[in-house]
Amino acid sequence: MENINQVSIIGAGTMGNGIAHVFAQNGFKVILIDINENFLKNGLENIKKNIDRQILKKQLKHSDKSSILSRIVTNNNLKDGVTSSRLVIEAATEDYNIKKKIFEEIDNYAPKNAILATNTSSISITKLAATTERPAQVIGMHFMNPVPIMKLVEVIKGFATSKSTVSTIIKTVTDLEKIAIEVKDYPGFTANRILLPMINEAIFSLFEGVAGVSEIDTVMKLGMAHPMGPLQLADFIGLDVCLSVLRVLQEGIGDDKYRPCPLLVNMVSAGRLGKKSGEGFYKYDQNSKDFSVSKQFE
Ligand code: NAD
Repeated sequence: MENINQVSIIGAGTMGNGIAHVFAQNGFKVILIDINENFLKNGLENIKKNIDRQILKKQLKHSDKSSILSRIVTNNNLKDGVTSSRLVIEAATEDYNIKKKIFEEIDNYAPKNAILATNTSSISITKLAATTERPAQVIGMHFMNPVPIMKLVEVIKGFATSKSTVSTIIKTVTDLEKIAIEVKDYPGFTANRILLPMINEAIFSLFEGVAGVSEIDTVMKLGMAHPMGPLQLADFIGLDVCLSVLRVLQEGIGDDKYRPCPLLVNMVSAGRLGKKSGEGFYKYDQNSKDFSVSKQFE
């Protein structure tokens, strides 16, 4: 099994900058790629903020900050950014056409022995692999948000993914001090197949007036020991992302039990996307960590 020491990460958003952070923190060289300098700048700022938080919590030393950052370079040119890495991880926008184009390009420019991984939440690994000349070297590496904190990485084996690709990626996840769980390539994989129906049911409970926002979340926190209620979690994930994963489950599995709640559909149509848009089931204060139940649901 070859050792990987450099990784190219495509997309410097929520997930991409978190993935870059954990690789650099664990000694890997990282090339972080996005479409323009602004996205790259924001991604790096976020990494700095998260390192500062780890220093405050005494999980890292002050001196670690410069060494972690020294291992990350940025590039706004996808072609240049992937030519020398043995592992390329795509963490761009959740849209099949965007990802298809990226996979075709990285297949052209990354070294022939490079593994191409995707952090997609719901798009078929097999379908993305089929857009390349190296389907045996394509795999899902589904990190959880926030990446520096969450221990799990779902490793998704596509229809043609080779055993050696799987074992190289499992070893890499272990090198990141995270836990790899190997799953097969079916809609929603495992995490979202279980999580999204629960979130959808919580939204139906609100929609049908069974209970209010804070009651639903409190039931799941105090009754089931969940650290965060399902409606707050939906806001955190992004209501648009929740809707698109439910549609993938409904269409891919062909069962209407995954039909998205009409309230979720309406909220996404209204641009109420959760924390990232400032309001979902809760309203978020942009200058502090404060939030309260959205007026509409009081
Ligand atoms: P995001 O919108 O925060 O970031 C996506 C980034 O990709 C943006 O900065 C965008 O500029 C960049 N991008 C788009 N097209 C590009 C291209 N052609 N080349 C380079 N960069 C490009 O999204 P995110 O939340 O970080 O999600 C990224 C991926 O991770 C998605 O596939 C998503 O499903 C998955 N994911 C998200 C979460 C989550 O909680 N947000 C959790 C697990 C997995």
